[in-house]
Amino acid sequence: EKKYDYLIVGAGLFGSVFAHEMTKLGKKCFVIDKRSHLGGNVYCENNEGINVHKYGAHIFHTNDKKIWDYVNQFATFNNYINSPLSLSKGKLYNLPFNMNTFYQLWGTKTPEEAKAVIDAQIEKYGVKSPKNLEEQALSLIGKDIYETLIKEYTEKQWGKKASELPAFIIKRLPVRYTYNNNYFNDVYQGIPIGGYNTIINGLLEGIETKTNVDFFSERESLSSIADKIVYTGKIDEFFDYKYGALEYRSLRFENQWHEMQNYQGNAVVNYNDSEYKFTRIIEHKHFEFGTQKNTIITKEYPENWDKSKEAYYPINNDVNQQKFKQYKEDALALKNVIFGGRLAEYRYYDMHQIIASSLKKVEEMHKKNLTI
Ligand code: FAD
Repeated sequence: EKKYDYLIVGAGLFGSVFAHEMTKLGKKCFVIDKRSHLGGNVYCENNEGINVHKYGAHIFHTNDKKIWDYVNQFATFNNYINSPLSLSKGKLYNLPFNMNTFYQLWGTKTPEEAKAVIDAQIEKYGVKSPKNLEEQALSLIGKDIYETLIKEYTEKQWGKKASELPAFIIKRLPVRYTYNNNYFNDVYQGIPIGGYNTIINGLLEGIETKTNVDFFSERESLSSIADKIVYTGKIDEFFDYKYGALEYRSLRFENQWHEMQNYQGNAVVNYNDSEYKFTRIIEHKHFEFGTQKNTIITKEYPENWDKSKEAYYPINNDVNQQKFKQYKEDALALKNVIFGGRLAEYRYYDMHQIIASSLKKVEEMHKKNLTI
């Protein structure tokens, strides 16, 4: 008899939800993380009362009432609505593209006027079969919005010219013919009061955890203490990169402390122009309507990834998908290891999707167990 039913590698949302639900079902779980804290990428660092989103700004949003109720067991959410601005050539524009943006660009006041401008530009600059991101964007939205709010931002994000990026990166560019700056269309949205750590602490309450433990540095002994392993780290690392490393885009965060109450008046301001090497500035206190005397901001710089950096966005091209497929086959052959979460599935997932996928995994395992 092993000491634990599950060893959970990674204390992010996937691992924490899994551990919580399995513990409720009477299973004994042990959660480890190589970082010095729990929570994975939703972890917040409290800095003089301001919750700093250490691995990038996180806004919770979902249309799924079940997931909303689930997270509300652990925290109360405030009524934060994400309404980013974009600074372009000295002027500020509202996002997502809506009647406010169109007014700021062209002075159009009615939906009909705005639609006429967009349609005329698509007609003039669009192409029948777009071969790259630039042509795709011009065909979907015309020249002004593309050049003012998309081109340089996207080039910084991916470190490549828009004319050299694949068209499929932009599938749709939603435009809204109402004066509505709410970035998300979801029914439920907000920031957990007290920060995301409140949710993680609630999920992991009463469960054995250990930080600063890298699974690979004690692989054999850790593997022998539990019946099953839930692995939420990088799938290629688990298999010693035998088919090659999966590629990512990384980010560098530069935090600045300012002795002023309010730096930019909004949580998120995008910097479109290429002269700024960062893509956006986050002012964390505004996620929670903070009134502290000082403020902390983060400049977000996209970066090339290598094994020494955090892996943030999977690069979904054919080469990587092909490699991932091989790793996935190997993963499926291992009956006592469950692969889950954004790194093990090599997929960008929002928080609500990760929670749903972890709950689904628990249900699958539970059903299997009942039928044995
Ligand atoms: P993670 O949180 O990455 O957890 C994996 C954990 O495994 C990590 O803690 C890691 O340290 C640990 N680990 C890995 N390897 C090992 C090992 N060998 N040994 C021990 N531990 C290991 N979602 C939203 O819904 N809204 C947003 O606004 C939003 N903004 C985002 C912004 C950015 C910049 C990024 C990158 C993501 C954003 N997301 C957002 C997505 C969100 O971060 C993810 O959905 C979620 O954090 C994924 O949880 P996870 O458990 O899969 O992975």
